[in-house]
Amino acid sequence: MPARLLDGSALSAALRRALAGDVEALSSTGRRPGLAVVLVGDDPASQVYVRNKVRACADAGIRSELRRLPDDVTEAGLLDVIERFNADDGIDGILVQMPLPPHLSPARVLETIGVDKDVDGFHLSSAGALLHGRIEDGIGFLPCTPYGVMRLLDSAAVPIAGRHAVVIGRSNTVGKPMALMLLARDATVTLCHSRTRDLPEIVRTGDIVVSAVGRAATVTADMIKPGAAVVDVGINRDAAGKLVGDVDATVREVAGWLSPVPGGVGPMTIAMLLENTVLAARRRQAHTTPTT
Ligand code: NAP
Repeated sequence: MPARLLDGSALSAALRRALAGDVEALSSTGRRPGLAVVLVGDDPASQVYVRNKVRACADAGIRSELRRLPDDVTEAGLLDVIERFNADDGIDGILVQMPLPPHLSPARVLETIGVDKDVDGFHLSSAGALLHGRIEDGIGFLPCTPYGVMRLLDSAAVPIAGRHAVVIGRSNTVGKPMALMLLARDATVTLCHSRTRDLPEIVRTGDIVVSAVGRAATVTADMIKPGAAVVDVGINRDAAGKLVGDVDATVREVAGWLSPVPGGVGPMTIAMLLENTVLAARRRQAHTTPTT
């Protein structure tokens, strides 16, 4: 039996419809959530990502403010823009589209974003809060892509506790937080990377496999335990320029669940960005509303 589809497009659309109601409720109290999006340079892929995020905000009723900066903006100039958004009461979340031109330090840029507006979840304090299980205490935000993967798995009731989860890729934004989120749900986690020996052997023992590498056909059918849940985070172009993930199409015949590319993790990432923005607005409202 072919794998069941982990349909990120459908789930994202449903979540965003539900969120639009929450946004209206907040807005009726005079607090329409606002997201600032900063785009440096004119990288074509970044332009597409930013356009999709701005459009998704509009569809959900979230106000967005797009600030385009030239490729040669100085770091001081970029940090100044972020500081202004930090101080702007109408802005709940700030997103700086990555990658940045090489003369700008992503670490310094991301750490300038106030942690209460860090809706991408990339700030050191958000990472620390995830490590310590403190996000639910109102500190920081979950990074959108791995958070979207968790929601996709939960939507299909994929068992997580006690299962072996294999995460391929150890970036700070996807692989590492993914491993921590699965661990927090009591999975036994193996985190693989480019220096991992015998990757196929390890992946074959996974009940859940998340691939976040950025190389087509990293995961093939012979590497998958029958019935495993396979989530494909990768975004690649094949020789014909078609969008493909890290997971080979043949995996569909072996896996129990599989997320497609496109239409899997990508739309979930955007839905989580919107949810984080609304969460940021709620937290800010709770801090500013006097209690009697
Ligand atoms: P990244 O920072 O380049 O990290 C890639 C990871 O893959 C690294 O940890 C690297 O190991 C590992 N790796 C490379 N070759 C490998 C191999 N042959 N075997 C095992 N591991 C290998 O990338 P990223 O930002 O995490 O993104 C990963 C992919 O997800 C990209 O295609 C990106 O476009 C996509 N992505 C999608 C979304 C979405 O919304 N759908 C969001 C974010 C990212 P080392 O650490 O040893 O170098």
